[in-house]
Amino acid sequence: MDTLRIDRRVVLVTGAASGIGHAIARACAAEGATVHLADVSDSVHEAAGKVTAAGSGSVTSHVCDVTDPDAVRTLVDDVTAASGRLDVAFLNAGINGVPSLLQPGGAIDELPFAAWRRVMDVNLDGLFHCLQHCARVMKEQRSGSIVVTASTAGLRAEPRVSYPYVASKAAVVGLVRQASLELARFGVRVNALAPGPVVTNIGGPGPRPEAAVAAWEDSIPMRRWGRPDDITGAALLLASDDSSWMTGGVHVVDGGASALTQIPS
Ligand code: NAD
Repeated sequence: MDTLRIDRRVVLVTGAASGIGHAIARACAAEGATVHLADVSDSVHEAAGKVTAAGSGSVTSHVCDVTDPDAVRTLVDDVTAASGRLDVAFLNAGINGVPSLLQPGGAIDELPFAAWRRVMDVNLDGLFHCLQHCARVMKEQRSGSIVVTASTAGLRAEPRVSYPYVASKAAVVGLVRQASLELARFGVRVNALAPGPVVTNIGGPGPRPEAAVAAWEDSIPMRRWGRPDDITGAALLLASDDSSWMTGGVHVVDGGASALTQIPS
């Protein structure tokens, strides 16, 4: 697309082995960007193969656990050493639960602290580490766009979502706003994307009971779950100069779900 200008930009995507992050990495490659995929899973290497096939620029995969601050520092340093700069960071890695410990929509008095900590560790602390190191590089080069995957669950209470997920994503929104304030004078923009329910490995209807899927669809005016490719247009806009006066925003992409004042439970 002529209106999107991330060709030859150096892009990092965390959580890029599957779902939304993978779709964003593919879309960036198709726009001619140099793409670095990072994920805790080894399957990031296979994912990078698919991204390479989608574009013409260089594609590199990195195994990195965002909960490890040293690993994140190394990741960001490796990206800048290999590509000379870092123009766009999609900070997207996240989890919504801990199998066996955490039930979506479960009661607060039954919530194991270990499950709370684990979700916070990935979704909030992991984002903090990534934000810190991307900001370090982008402040120095005095340019950059950081796009964080938050969630509509960070903007309101949602009946079928876990406590730590909602709390972590609300905190993510605060972190994005605060970082945008500091980084604006360095020419670095920071925005959040807030997707509604998207069919992926964490958010998909696959393992969920049919009734739960139907309940979600009832709460989406467009009457369907999102697909990862539904998120990429907004992601590319926030990455590119087409959004050059947009920072500190939270951009909802949810088939209209947030327009409803009440969700059927
Ligand atoms: P997904 O499970 O398909 O992708 C998440 C990726 O993050 C996986 O590849 C996973 O291996 C990786 N990851 C998990 N922990 C990590 C860690 N510690 N370090 C590095 N990588 C790690 O799920 P998705 O739905 O594509 O999720 C992407 C983002 O979108 C998450 O932040 C999620 O909270 C957010 N989100 C998803 C939905 C949805 O309905 N799917 C809705 C709103 C927001």
